[in-house]
Amino acid sequence: MEPIEQKRHLTTAVPGPRSLELTVRREAAVSSGVSSGLPAFIERGSGAILVDVDGNQLIDLGSGIAVTSVGHAHPAVTAAIAEQSARFTHTCFMVTPYEQYVAVAEALNDLTPGTHAKSTALFNSGAEAVENAIKVARLATGRSGVAVFDHAYHGRTNLTMALTAKNMPYKDRFGPFAPEIYRAPMSYPLHDGLSGPEAAARAISHLETQVGAHNLAALLIEPIQGEGGFIVPAVGFLPALAEWASEHGIVFIADEIQTGFCRTGAWFASEHEGIVPDLITTAKGIAAGMPLAAVTGRRELMNAVHAGGLGGTYGGNPVAAAAALAAIEVMRSEDLAERARALHSTIERKLSLAASELPAIAEVRGRGAMMAIELVRPGTLEPDAALAKSVVAQCAEDGVITLSCGTYGNVVRLLPPLVIEQSLLDEGLDLLVGVLRRCAS
Ligand SMILES: *Cc1c(COP(=O)(O)O)cnc(C)c1O
Repeated sequence: MEPIEQKRHLTTAVPGPRSLELTVRREAAVSSGVSSGLPAFIERGSGAILVDVDGNQLIDLGSGIAVTSVGHAHPAVTAAIAEQSARFTHTCFMVTPYEQYVAVAEALNDLTPGTHAKSTALFNSGAEAVENAIKVARLATGRSGVAVFDHAYHGRTNLTMALTAKNMPYKDRFGPFAPEIYRAPMSYPLHDGLSGPEAAARAISHLETQVGAHNLAALLIEPIQGEGGFIVPAVGFLPALAEWASEHGIVFIADEIQTGFCRTGAWFASEHEGIVPDLITTAKGIAAGMPLAAVTGRRELMNAVHAGGLGGTYGGNPVAAAAALAAIEVMRSEDLAERARALHSTIERKLSLAASELPAIAEVRGRGAMMAIELVRPGTLEPDAALAKSVVAQCAEDGVITLSCGTYGNVVRLLPPLVIEQSLLDEGLDLLVGVLRRCAS
């Protein structure tokens, strides 16, 4: 196959005629419950470019929601997948083991925060990892309560719907939900004006008075909230919660499914404030798009579970594990954490400049290459979801993929592949800023 030039290039409207034909077939065959942000059907990808079936080359600033951090079709990853799939594609680790699973566990035990003894179990999706982290915490503590936060997103399975905060579209009429989930107020500096310690004191008081620390098996939190709006808690919030959890024998679970694997400028976002979670859940960026997820944490917790208590048919699939090992090696050798920090300064600079002239941008926030703008009605903090929607749609028409998020749908987020070339990032950002100017002024 010809190499794909790292350039935006439009040959038709987006979506083009071939995509529209496929959309007709899709609508006849695929549940309408599954929707797509940008209905351009993709044929190939490379680096930060996706090529659709009409030959349009789109700049990908979303990475399939923080998944293809090493870029689309990274040659080291595709080679590892090809090699492993030619050897064998499945045994079920619970039937007969293989080395790749163990090697991924070793890498995660090594890379996640803390020097204590750790063990890992592998799964297929983020939601499955979160469910299993809760299983481990409940079994190890003999307690049932789970503390979660406003704006949290932890998945779409039954237990994780209960853990997720936002009703539409994730939960509406899908109940009843699992019991023993308690939601505490999050630190959201733009809206609550609280310092980290103040916000933590509020959350802790809420949990102590409404639940009782001794009833909690786990406190589950995203170090930077993803779907909830790229909410970066005020400094000191996470350490205060971690300390309180530790004092009361509550398992502190960091859900790093979106923040992990160099995305925020460190291997894991917990590192920015020196947090050492008891358990950490990972997925998304772990394997460049192959389905893989993990729970990694304190060996005594992970090993409290009886033999056979954790597992699944596909968890830690050998092809996905081989892809993860290759992707992790790319992150290490290309120092993608450093690359994320470099991307941060470009994104921050361009978006802050836009924010200084556009009062609809209430805040530019995020860490590393996990960046967002929150859009409001000028002069207020009232969310403007319609503006976010039109910005994302207009960018897509112009060949730049961005994503919206937020409890109120008014946040535009950027999660570019960490390997994106500087000129392509500049072009994508300039286009986004142009769209913001057009839509917001
Ligand atoms: C995406 C996500 C999940 C769910 O992962 P799936 O692989 O979609 O099940 C859980 N937690 C966070 C923080 C996420 O971003």
